[in-house]
This record gives sequence, structure tokens and C-alpha cells, in this order.
Amino acid sequence: MADGSQAAPAVRTTCPYCGVGCGVEARAGAGRSLAVAGDPAHPANRGRLCSKGMALGRTVGLEGRLLSPMIGARKAGWDEATALVARRFEEAIARHGPDSVAFYVSGQLLTEDYYAANKLMKGFIGSANIDTNSRLCMASAVAAHKAAFGADLVPGCYEDLELADLVVFCGHNAAWTHPVLFRRMEAARARGQKHVVVDPRRTDTAEGADLHLALAPQTDVRLWNGLLAELIRRGAVDRAYVAAHVSGFEAVEAALGQADQSPAAVAADCGVAQADLEAFYALFAATPRTVSLFSMGSNQSAQGTAKGLAIVNAHLATGRIGKPGACPFSITGQPNAMGGREVGGLANTLAAHMGFDQADRARVARFWGAPRVAEKPGLKAVEMFEAAHDGRIKALWVMATNPAVSLPNAGRVREALARCPFVVVSDCMADTDTARFAHVKLPALAWGEKDGTVTNSERRISRQRALFPPPGEACADWRIVAQVARAMGFGDAFGWGSPAAVFREHARLTAYENAGRPLDLSGLIGARYDGVEPVQWPARDGGGTERLFADGRFATSDGRARMVPVRPGPPAAPLSTGFPLSLNTGRIRDQWHTMTRTGLVPDLCRHAPEPFVEIHPADAAPLGIEDGALARVATALGEATVVARVTERQRRGGLFMPMHWTDAFAAGGKANPLVAGAVDPVSGQPEFKHTPARVRPYRETWRGFHLSRRPLAQPEGLDLVWRRIPHGACHQHEFAGRGGAEERERLRCSLAKGAAGELIRFEDAAGGAMREAYVAEGRLQSVLFTTTAGRLPPREWLAELFAEAALSPEARSALLSGRAPGAARDAGPVVCACLKVGVHVIAEAVAAGSADVDAVGRATGAGTSCGSCRPEIARMLAARPVSEEKRHAA
Ligand code: SF4
Repeated sequence: MADGSQAAPAVRTTCPYCGVGCGVEARAGAGRSLAVAGDPAHPANRGRLCSKGMALGRTVGLEGRLLSPMIGARKAGWDEATALVARRFEEAIARHGPDSVAFYVSGQLLTEDYYAANKLMKGFIGSANIDTNSRLCMASAVAAHKAAFGADLVPGCYEDLELADLVVFCGHNAAWTHPVLFRRMEAARARGQKHVVVDPRRTDTAEGADLHLALAPQTDVRLWNGLLAELIRRGAVDRAYVAAHVSGFEAVEAALGQADQSPAAVAADCGVAQADLEAFYALFAATPRTVSLFSMGSNQSAQGTAKGLAIVNAHLATGRIGKPGACPFSITGQPNAMGGREVGGLANTLAAHMGFDQADRARVARFWGAPRVAEKPGLKAVEMFEAAHDGRIKALWVMATNPAVSLPNAGRVREALARCPFVVVSDCMADTDTARFAHVKLPALAWGEKDGTVTNSERRISRQRALFPPPGEACADWRIVAQVARAMGFGDAFGWGSPAAVFREHARLTAYENAGRPLDLSGLIGARYDGVEPVQWPARDGGGTERLFADGRFATSDGRARMVPVRPGPPAAPLSTGFPLSLNTGRIRDQWHTMTRTGLVPDLCRHAPEPFVEIHPADAAPLGIEDGALARVATALGEATVVARVTERQRRGGLFMPMHWTDAFAAGGKANPLVAGAVDPVSGQPEFKHTPARVRPYRETWRGFHLSRRPLAQPEGLDLVWRRIPHGACHQHEFAGRGGAEERERLRCSLAKGAAGELIRFEDAAGGAMREAYVAEGRLQSVLFTTTAGRLPPREWLAELFAEAALSPEARSALLSGRAPGAARDAGPVVCACLKVGVHVIAEAVAAGSADVDAVGRATGAGTSCGSCRPEIARMLAARPVSEEKRHAA
């Protein structure tokens, strides 16, 4: 280093966001500063990170952290808080039985945390009422795996995504949700790999694909059944593989025969062009090396298990499984959804992939020395909160998740939390929408402080390592659970002193009396925990396993896979004249779940600063919905006001809203309170992808924004649209209302309360514009602009004034005039989060002649860092007007 000091050694750890499970090299510096880079030695990402991973270093501050146990509003010691939690759970169990208590846990937990919670609930409390938020993510894939393979087994590995000649993305916007994997497949595509996207939306994944099937909502089963029927007609079934390794083919074939499977009929039902459908079927039939990726778009459905089985059926019938470049591949959303599945974090699994039959219960009881192993599956996520609502659950412990935002029908979930007699929340953040309902809050470690293991979507176990010492009184989740278990009298079974001890116990359980269960970590039992290298299970004798079923043997009693007949069904809730549109919810590129971490990084809030709804122009026009205007989206459960994005990328008849915003960022723009609570009958996974809805313009009479050094909550007593958008040195608050001058004045007075310093003010009452700012000791403190004319200046240059040590005379004039000084320009919403390149800057580069993504990168820098924005730049390039000269040449 230039100053002669030694650089901190890099610690190899794992990204805490999506199911790709990228390896990270992290160097901690003074004052919790952190430099991160992709780990070139990690097989999942080979040195790459996406925009969220690149920003990890800016999420490790202590802002907003919960740093001591809280009982109500007062700080408490660990002993007191732990004793209270133990006592209230014991009282509920004594009075109402073990099924009167529940844990709702998270794919954010490490495997060791999960293991401890599962052991306490299922082995010592004696109930299986522990379920994970992974229920919302991939429970349908789990159910399909169990039915088809005999256990919850992901057959493939990431290398298959590169070896495949065809990748089918089924309800999977990999470009945004799993960006690093998508870049690996983009590279394969440059070598000739074909991409087919099955998705009602023209996502960035679909934009560059060879074929996009924008199917009607909930017609996936029809599409895949039609494919299998076509494969049978074409003679593309691998009869020898089926005869040797698969049962149920005849039953599936007979079931297919009960409906018209002609491409014309299937295309009509799916709402896609027959030629496109036939092109997909022909490509699939002709391509032995095919991987079918399925994710939330497939799983989050009342038909999610049937969709997974329909995909698996096509692969089993063609023998495309267990071979390089060929498999059905469920991709998880969360960083450790797989680890949760392994230890038994789902209410319908006991532990280590074992169930609730007598033999499994007896085996687990012997291993744990457990007095009362749960006898039957417990309540799944939606059922659990329904039970809290109707009074069956008397004590609930929520660990590392935010169900008040993330569950469907989230308003009812809030009612359930309010009604539950005793709610414990263990979290690293002090103030989440869920934590507001807690009677006891327990401070947990955050990423960068935790030490343990996670499993990614390809069954690869990696280490998360601590970079900083525990702050305040924060404690590892497994240790918190163990403390409560000891306070409940189960100390002997929860006496671990380290995460390594917990992991070894988990590994020993996977190997215990294991007569062929694939989940086998026996090779890791004696491994040096700190030195565990990323490894795919089964991991026997220290080595991992890339691909499952290579020998054609499955985890069923006879070793044969099962094909299961599945029939398309109608959506759980039909459209009606009152709610004629289908609301689909999902994720965006730069935010993670409920923004408790990514919302701390201003650069990650620039790509989509506000909640929005996408709507097709043909649906928007008759309703008077304009692009960029506010719109009210309503379902039978509630209403949200969000910005309309009118786009042909959205299928006609559908709406799309992202799910991330919370009370802290946009109380009136939340998506999940609108989502109906219908669930898949087998998996219990909620249907986030279809709720009947309607939309209408908001028709505000005025708009405004307020910039301040502190984040502000929505002003009470005013019925306004309100959002908060963080910047580097201030917070931007956007407002809109439908009242008159009195409403604006009440807001102004509310915001001016406590303001100090010199007031700079301009008002044009006739023109409906007002601008005022407070300056103290030469520095800008706050800015408020309102207008009734609908025009407000860009906010970026104003936000940058907060970073200045002293406000210049030019800046003062600009505040009054409402126009940026000098040559400041509006770069537009950020496309490249790493280098902060706005959409207008990229558009200028394209207009100036940058002809491909690399040329745009050379001109602007966009897309040259993590690459997550490259699909969006490609989309902008594809949409540019073609010159007359080029048109003639074409
Ligand atoms: S793709 Fe991005 S969010 Fe997912 S693990 Fe990798 S860096 Fe993290």
C-alpha cells in the first residue's frame, strides 16, 4: 500500500442474497469499512458478483441495528429476555399443548441456525410448527422433487447451464434474479446455446432470447403437457431410458389422451402464437442437452407442484436427467433455502430429509436423545399465520424475516401478529414492519458477523465467515436458540460451543443409520470446519457430487423415478368485471426482499426508486393511465398507489408490481397486502403470480418533494402518497395529494417543525409553485418543493448540495429558481448501479453511434463492472430507431 501499511488479508465468504451463492473475498478495514470482490476460486461465480453483491461493503454499518435485547420498549439483559421467552413458550405449551407455539424462520439463516431451531421445535417442544419463508420461494419444487425422485433432490449443477445446447427459462427472470448465473449462460449463448423464455412478461431474460412464449397466466401445465404429447407424437421419447429407470409413463400418456393436445389447441389455451409454440416443441425435441430452469414464476402458484411435475415429466420421458447439460433445474431465491430444506426447516420434513413415519421418528429421537419428537407435519407458513389470527398459536417466534411485508394478504398477517399473545422477533435490524409487533426483540448477528454454512441452488455447501466482531450484545441465531432451549430445561442437547459443533452434529445426523439417503455429509464430519471448501452434497469421504442420477437410480423404494399425471386447472381466483386484470408480483434487479439491507445503499435505489406497476398500453389507454403518472392498483384485499409504467413488455390483461417496498420506504405502495392467500394444495406455496385486480389513475392535484438529512416517516393525519428514497447525504421524500392549498400548507408546517436556520423561500401562488430551504451554518438542511402544475426539477443536483461544506451563492439562486446551476443535467434513472450511469447518458451514447453493449461501455462505463445492467443496455440498443440507410441495407 502507498502508506506502507499492510492490506488486511482477504476472508473468503459467501454472498447473503440470492440462491446463486457467490463466493466473496472481503477485506475489512478501519471503522467497519469493507472492500469486497468476487472470489475467483469459488465455483459458483468464478470471481463475478452482481450489483447487490458488489454493494455488500456498504451494508455493514451499524445504522438501524438492533444491538441489545428489548422487552417492549425497554432494554433488557440476555438472561432476562431469554428467561421470559422460555417461560411464555412453556406456559403456552403447558396450557394448550405443543402445537400452540410456532417458529417462522428464514432462508437468510445459516444451516447451523436452522438446525438448532428445528431441533428445539421438532425434537424437544414436540411440534412440527416450524416453517421457513422458503415456503414462499420453492416449496412447490420440493414437492415435485419428492413425488418424482423420492426425495428433495436437485439433479444438476451450474456447469450444466454452460454445457446445455438449450436452456428453457420457465418463469425465471435470471437476468435480474440470478445475474451471475445469467452471465455464465450469456457466455454459453455466444457459443451457440439457445434460450427459450416462458413468461407472461418480456423480461430482460426474454428480451435477448431466441424465443419468448408470453403465455397466459397459469397455463404452464397445459404448455408442458402439450410438449410431452408432441414428444410422444414425434417419437422423441427415450423408450430405453423409460423402460429401465422410470415408472408411470403409461399413466401420464393416458391422462394426456383425455384432452386435445394438438399444438393449435394448446397454443390457443396458452395465448401464444401456434408457430412459436411449434418452434419451441421442435427445438426441445431436437436438443438432447436441454436444461429447464424453473423458479418463482413457476413455483409461486396454486398449481406450482403440478407445474414442476409437468417439467420433470418431459425430462424423464426423454432421459434428459443426470447427464451433462441435461436436467430439470429448480433455482432457489434465497441464499440458504437449500440449507433449510436439508435440516428440516419446512414444516413437512422432520430432519435431514427424513419424514414423520415411525422409523424416521425413532431414528431422529435416538440421535437427538429427544423426549418428544413431533408426530406429524406442522403448519405451513400461510396456515401458521392463519392459526395466529384465529387464536390457535399463542406464542410465535419470527427469526430473520419480515412476514408483515413478504407474506400474501399481508394486512391479515399484521392482524395475526397483533392478535398473537406473545411474539418474539430475532433480527439484526431494530425496526422492521414485523418487529413493531414484537413483545420481545432479540439482537442477531448480521452478514459479516455470522459464521457458518449455506447451501446454494446446486447443493453446494459454502462457508460464511465473520469479518467483524459481534456489535453490542448481538448474538448468533443458533446461540440464541440454544440459550432459550437451556432456559426451557433442554440444556444437555443444546450445549454446543461453536458453529462447528452444530455443523458436525448436523453432518452426523445425515449419516446416522443412513441406508442410502442421498443427503449424506459423512465426509465433512471430521473436516476442519474453518477449512471447508465449497462442496456439493452428497459429500462422502470428503469429495462432493456434481450431478445426481447419473446411474439412473433415484431415491424411491425401487430406484425408479416416477412420472406423475398432472392436469391444468383454472386460476384459484377467476377474473371478474370488478377485477378484470391479473396481478403478478415479483422482484427487481437491485433490491433484495424487504430492503432492510439493500435499501441502505443509495446506488441500489436509483434503478427503480419508487414502487411501480407495469401495464400494457392497450389496457392503460381506456383507463386513462399514463406512463409515469400515479395509479391506484386495487384487489379485493386492498389498494396501493404506485407509478404507472406503460409498456408493451407487459402482457395484455396483466399487471406487474415489485414486492420490496415496506412501511419504511413507501407505506402506500406495498404489493403483498394485495395478494390473495391462495396456496398450492400439495406444497402450501402461495400464489403470488395471480390475483384479480383493477387499476385507475390517482389524479393528484399537486406533487412535491422534500429533502432532509434525516429519514422522515409519513406525516400523520394527511392522506398523501409518500415515498422515501435514500441518497448519500440526505433522504428524498416524494409526495402527492389530492387536496388543495390547505393540504399543502399543513404538510409544509409539519415538515418545518423543528427546522432551524435561515429560510430561503419562493412562492408563486398563481402558478402553484412553492420552494423553500433551510440553511444552517452555511450548510443546506432541508428543501421542500411543491407544484400544482405537475413539473418538478430533477432531484439529483439538489441532493448533491447536501454534501457541500458551504452553500455557494449560485446554489442559493438555484434553490430559488428551481433550476440546476451550471451545466448540471438529468442523468435519469440509474441503469448501471456500479458506476452510476443514468438512462439518459446511455441513450446519448447510443444516439451518438455506440452500436453494441461493449461500445456503450467504452463510451459511458456502463456494464463494465458487474455486468448486471448489460441486458438492459442491450434492450435499449434493440429499441433504438433504425436509420433509413440501415433500413435500406437490410
Ligand atoms: S448473483 Fe448477486 S445476489 Fe446472487 S449470490 Fe451472486 S452476488 Fe449475491
